[in-house]
Amino acid sequence: MDQKTRLFSGGLKQFINVRDQFCRTPYCGGRIQHLDHVVQSARGGATRAENASSRCAWCNATKEAPGWEESPIPGDRHTLRVTTSSRHVHTSTAPRMPGTDYYRVHPVSAPPPRRRQ
Ligand SMILES: [Zn+2]
Repeated sequence: MDQKTRLFSGGLKQFINVRDQFCRTPYCGGRIQHLDHVVQSARGGATRAENASSRCAWCNATKEAPGWEESPIPGDRHTLRVTTSSRHVHTSTAPRMPGTDYYRVHPVSAPPPRRRQ
């Protein structure tokens, strides 16, 4: 999914909203109000699903604080590396997509994680 504009719209917008389900800033979990570039478009970040994250309005503004850095981490599920202005590093992984096979995202050689009852 790729677009030439800076706006996330149409099917790409719907996909990101379904994928993220809530604000992707670690420990927030607020209601989605903005779709944001992980790497800002002014810094060359593309308007693509891999470079998008859903945010509440507060976190979208906070992300612009000096020293705040984010980057996508390639993998089975959309994951962000977030370095805050205080230089604390966190990751934010999107929830599993509805209907996905629980074990498919883990290596075959690793024991499967326990399911919650
Ligand atoms: Zn938030």
